[in-house]
Amino acid sequence: MTIKTRFAPSPTGHLHVGNIRTALHNWMFAQKEGGTFLLRLDDTDAERSKEQYVEAIRADLAWLGLVPDEEQRQSARFDRYEEQLEKLKAAGRVYPAYETAQELDLKRKIQLGRGKPPIYDRAALDLTEAQIAEFEEQGRKPHWRFKLDHETPITWTDLIRGDQHFDPALLSDPVIRREDGSWLYMLPSAIDDVDMGITHVVRGEDHVANTAVQIQMFHALGAKPPEFAHEALLVGTEGKLSKRLGSLGVSSFREKHIEPQAIVALLARIGTSDPVEPVADVAPLIASFDFGRFGRAPARFDEEELAQLNQKIVHLLDYKDVKPRLPDAMDAAAWEVIRPNLHDMGDVDSWWQVVTGPVVVPDLSVEDQAFIGIAAAKMEELEASDDLWKDLTSALKEATGRKGKPLFMPLRQALTGLDHGPDMNALLPLIGKPAALTRLVEAAV
Ligand code: GLU
Repeated sequence: MTIKTRFAPSPTGHLHVGNIRTALHNWMFAQKEGGTFLLRLDDTDAERSKEQYVEAIRADLAWLGLVPDEEQRQSARFDRYEEQLEKLKAAGRVYPAYETAQELDLKRKIQLGRGKPPIYDRAALDLTEAQIAEFEEQGRKPHWRFKLDHETPITWTDLIRGDQHFDPALLSDPVIRREDGSWLYMLPSAIDDVDMGITHVVRGEDHVANTAVQIQMFHALGAKPPEFAHEALLVGTEGKLSKRLGSLGVSSFREKHIEPQAIVALLARIGTSDPVEPVADVAPLIASFDFGRFGRAPARFDEEELAQLNQKIVHLLDYKDVKPRLPDAMDAAAWEVIRPNLHDMGDVDSWWQVVTGPVVVPDLSVEDQAFIGIAAAKMEELEASDDLWKDLTSALKEATGRKGKPLFMPLRQALTGLDHGPDMNALLPLIGKPAALTRLVEAAV
């Protein structure tokens, strides 16, 4: 069997970290199994679906490296939904209902008032032909419900949650189509999963009750249901579903110079029994991907953990992979020297400026200024070489008797403008003897 997964966002907004995680797991599982990953745009809501979001979803997935093998749009399939609806009507699995929203609301309130669960009472099934004709005459349009089979218990073995049981009599027959002819999510999704050969539906546990209903839809459509994996939801550091998570998406990550590899490494592992590891390559994450490792407790998303992971991953990035994002003149040797000092890629320019100058030297004491004057004189005598720093500091040690911090710190400050930074041994050849000499002369004044 060829595995096929799908990621099915509604293009009514930008992807947030929760959807990104769902997309990632669908993609990873398909990769691991040598299967196919489908992007299905759930754009049945013509008013709220926007082309700009479709494009943003594609771009975000591409940036994360989750490139779909196939793309489908629900808005292109209305004829197919109509066709299947007719079959379900003929089979008695869908029925028209005429209650208004207010009437339904009242029914629910009465049920709740009597201490009963607010399950739809199926009053529409008892309408006589004359009553229906009257409604139609009044210009009332029906909405459509899917008729659950109360005799067949719903069970499945979830790849994360294990054995699941639902009593269909405790569920309302879901509305699948509104009065105005627009589709709700439930039936088109099941029709698509069948037609598109989806073998595994991977989504958040907020869909568990939908799955119960959709399992009956799959059977009513004459199809075997796919496998299901319902993941525990993502929560913020405060342990709740936070509003903040809903607003965190690719653009906010990019603004903070978070690498796609860091997002992938974190979202691949949180909520599983495997540790989060700084890996710049997704291959080992795919190899170890396993629904059996996912827990039932919510996955905790911590922005601080992401930032730290990002830093570790930046320290693993190869020159060839970052070259397009580096200043033109920055070569592989310079990248190696600067890389360990980066918090994120947003720091590259300021470190590169330490190499190319100009640097702003902090105020030095009179003694240190005099010392830097001697350093300038020594530097002038030295040969430019990879050992320039060693040669300079040995000569100065001998000439001034300084050692340790009093020897190194004023030099670092005069040469870089900072009191911390890359290994001077490696940095000084990048700055080069002429520029270093100028900096020393200026700092000595
Ligand atoms: N469009 C649905 C959603 O975003 C898809 C759910 C599913 O994966 O079936 O919730």
